[in-house]
Amino acid sequence: MKAPPRFERRLVILAVGAALPGLLLAAFLLWHDAAMDPGLRILLFSVAFFSAAWLVATLVARVVFPLRTLANILGGIREGDFSMRARGAVRDDALGEVFLETNALGQTLLEQRLGAMEATALLRTVMVELDVAVFAFDDHSRLRLANRAGEALLRRPAEQLLGRSASELALDGCLGGDAQRVLTMDLPGGSSRYALRRSVFRQEGRPHRLVVLTDLGRVLREEERAAWQRLLRVLGHEINNSLTPITSITGSLESLLGRDPLPEDWQADTRRGLEIIRGRAGALARFIDDYSRLAKLPPPLLRPVELAEILRRVALLESRVPVLLADIATVRIEADPDQLEQLLINLLRNAAEAALANPDESDRTVRVAVVEEDDVVAVRVEDTGLGIANPANLFVPFFTTKPGGSGIGLTLCRQIAEAHAGRLGLENRSDRGGAVATLTLPRRR
Ligand code: ADP
Repeated sequence: MKAPPRFERRLVILAVGAALPGLLLAAFLLWHDAAMDPGLRILLFSVAFFSAAWLVATLVARVVFPLRTLANILGGIREGDFSMRARGAVRDDALGEVFLETNALGQTLLEQRLGAMEATALLRTVMVELDVAVFAFDDHSRLRLANRAGEALLRRPAEQLLGRSASELALDGCLGGDAQRVLTMDLPGGSSRYALRRSVFRQEGRPHRLVVLTDLGRVLREEERAAWQRLLRVLGHEINNSLTPITSITGSLESLLGRDPLPEDWQADTRRGLEIIRGRAGALARFIDDYSRLAKLPPPLLRPVELAEILRRVALLESRVPVLLADIATVRIEADPDQLEQLLINLLRNAAEAALANPDESDRTVRVAVVEEDDVVAVRVEDTGLGIANPANLFVPFFTTKPGGSGIGLTLCRQIAEAHAGRLGLENRSDRGGAVATLTLPRRR
């Protein structure tokens, strides 16, 4: 027979030890009384003996049962089953408090597991939705994880990819070399330039490598497509603006010349119609000219130029509003004088046109100042106009708020500034109404 466990055995011995003196005393007293009937003596001793035996058994059961319950609950928790709860969890009771704490432990672990599961689910969703390809390789360079963009890049579902080695997937180039670089790869999802970012993480104590690939070619292609769409929208709008009146006027002229007899003023009507056609065709030609200028800006021919001289020349061209030239020291920079002059003419013309919109005639001025810093020179053109209405679109080609405007002035200016390794910005003045254009150019290159 299997021996009872040690704890139970010790408990039984202790309980029997506690009952034994009482039983011995009862036996001694019963047998000491010689007058007592032997049958009654045996009956009384049996009652005392069995009561003591019952009490010992109950005591052992009362101690052992809750401990076994507790062991079951803790075993459940260890196995990940946090649903079991002990009954009789109450305060001010030694056993009740142990149960209370065990139940609280189960609840806390349950909440933590739910939190961890939610966080993992969120991470998975984010990973799946990410536009960039994400791969995780284990310490044997075998693929352990790939998101949807990763599957698309390798043109296979994850089930067919997981467990394969990096060389089988043609991704071994990503596991070596610089952790952040741009590389060209020929993958089933497309041959392109990819930005690589690689990092290391540990899972189950083993090092893994996380590889993130961004398809740079696609980003560029999308930008290109957006630029084409913008351009076609503008071209379509402009061509329609000219062709619609031309079509309608040619229709009217045709029906006019078809009349018999011709009306008296047919010559005047025909001339007017032809004038409109010529005007619209001219506007279209100017628009195409403007566009070609924007698209065909040649690289600047740099040579030392005297900035103040160009500014004085350009200021003379603007006669509609006074142009104040602040004291400008001699500043030599390297620039293409023709392009720089074109840029400054545009800025001054915009500033003058903005100032002309000021209802107060005495407050229509343009002020030009040059600020010299360590290695750059900044030209500021301030006006007293009404300020910029729509800052977001200023440098969008063909954006204009002027009835006869082309909307390429600022775009062209910025192109010239950037071709000179400079910058151009336009913002509202902070000291008063009006705008200030700031052209920053490097002093020497
Ligand atoms: P255009 O002068 O033919 O309209 P630009 O590209 O030079 O083309 O300017 C685009 C738009 O930017 C203008 O129509 C105008 O709304 C705004 N803008 C340019 N300069 C200023 C300025 N100094 N103050 C306020 N708005 C300006």
